[in-house]
Amino acid sequence: MEGAASKCGIDKERKMSDMIVRATAADDTVRAFAIDSRELVEYARTSHDTSPVVTAALGRLLSGAAMMGVMMKDERDLITVQIIGDGPIGRLTVTADNAGNVKGFPQENMVEVPLKYEGKLNVGAAVGNGILRVMRDIGAPEPFVGTVDLVSGEIAEDLTYYFAQSEQTPSVVGLGVLIEKDLSVAYSGGFIVQLMPDATDETITVLEENIKGLKSVTEMLSAGLSPEQILEEVLKGLNPRVLETKPACFKCDCSRERIEESLISLPESDLTDMINDGKPVEVRCQFCNRKYEFSVDDITKLRDSKS
Ligand code: ZN
Repeated sequence: MEGAASKCGIDKERKMSDMIVRATAADDTVRAFAIDSRELVEYARTSHDTSPVVTAALGRLLSGAAMMGVMMKDERDLITVQIIGDGPIGRLTVTADNAGNVKGFPQENMVEVPLKYEGKLNVGAAVGNGILRVMRDIGAPEPFVGTVDLVSGEIAEDLTYYFAQSEQTPSVVGLGVLIEKDLSVAYSGGFIVQLMPDATDETITVLEENIKGLKSVTEMLSAGLSPEQILEEVLKGLNPRVLETKPACFKCDCSRERIEESLISLPESDLTDMINDGKPVEVRCQFCNRKYEFSVDDITKLRDSKS
């Protein structure tokens, strides 16, 4: 029987404590999610060697997408959330499943932009203007795709706008990543609260008051609040009920076999060029930056397996 930690699959010895909580409130007229994502965002940072503002942007998107993954019903369902901006980061791509596994990468990893103000990274400036695209692969012949314009590039506001526009679900999204002086991730996490169609005005009023009085996500995490306790704050007075708590992990499903398949699918002339170069070929997985090396012999075998 595999334990929860080894299910993360990054490193079987490394025990991750990241958690996603799924809850409901006000007689199921409100649903809510919260995540502590410090370790998975730190893993993403070291894998992709990201600068602080990219760590924050990617970390927010990883946290948001991980919660959106848990919203899906089937364990084979996948959700991909992309931020495509004209700022220096370019594109952020994150994929999540419904089991708390998430992976993602930035187009540019070493971006620096001036701080918004002392101690505040300017994620919006690093992302720029553009679009947010959500692709949901739930076993239908074509994935469901929803696209909205970015509101601010700050990610949480953009996801809030996406839920309202594309899914007609009024939502509040809070996301936060706090970076240490040594550039590692001090705190990372977030929450999503959504109103179901039968939510009453009274419920909405209570929720609005709670959100107004809420500290920032990183303030709550640094005060020691767990994802469950964050939801208790967000859903105060609305009889919150936790439905599920599960580990969240940065997990990539790449393998040497998959990389081989992608090499085999290249035109034969490309493979011949690689062989004629006479040097080993290094292929990196975009999502986790893992390196796979193929010798001239390996490439020759792959080419010959085509015919
Ligand atoms: Zn990978």
